[in-house]
Amino acid sequence: MSGAAAFVPDTHDLAELAEAARGCQGCPLYRDATQTVFGSGRPSARVVLIGEQPGDREDRAGTPFVGPAGRILDKALATAEIDRAELYLTNAVKHFKFTTNERGKRRIHKTPSRTEVEACRPWLLAELDTISPEVVVLLGATAAKSLLGNDFRVSHHRGEILHVTGLTTDGDPALVATIHPSAVLRGPSESRDEAFDGLVADLRTAYATTRTVRNAGSAGSGTFIPAASPVRR
Ligand code: SF4
Repeated sequence: MSGAAAFVPDTHDLAELAEAARGCQGCPLYRDATQTVFGSGRPSARVVLIGEQPGDREDRAGTPFVGPAGRILDKALATAEIDRAELYLTNAVKHFKFTTNERGKRRIHKTPSRTEVEACRPWLLAELDTISPEVVVLLGATAAKSLLGNDFRVSHHRGEILHVTGLTTDGDPALVATIHPSAVLRGPSESRDEAFDGLVADLRTAYATTRTVRNAGSAGSGTFIPAASPVRR
């Protein structure tokens, strides 16, 4: 597995990156998926949200967060009074990884391997380096581990304002790790409200951090964590 680095052009143009990502063969996941699902949203976004990988609906649509998890995210953003149009949304892995059920009709999500996450990381770093956001929200363990290393546990740090140096060329964004919206759907019905409220609270923390960053003129206070991945160049 060669990884995506050889396919990432030397550009800070999101449209050029997205176009190049369409032809990525940096890991085997491109073979079975319908298409690359690159990030989408405001190129000048102050907040970037990173999920795990596209799901079945996203794979068909070519856009992140348009399926059931996307609907939960939309509801959480609306509750937190955050406008999705102001954000940039992407995934740690750009192709849908799945298995099929016995009759071969239904595609069932499979968690990407650590190797696949690492293979795809150059695209994520390129997106972050291009947008240079003030805050990055890591939705779930895969996104968090992609940037913070395999030992990182969302359950130990969720909702904290984290800092990693060397993630982007132009200033270091604050990071906030939380659950993936799909976790709200997967959990027991009696705890879904609590899970949803936690997601909303973490999104509010992240969004409030943009004001802290601007007012402080720096990354502000928080927990410093060693970078798992270097800036892309
Ligand atoms: S998952 Fe990422 S590294 Fe693998 S082929 Fe798709 S874009 Fe390339």
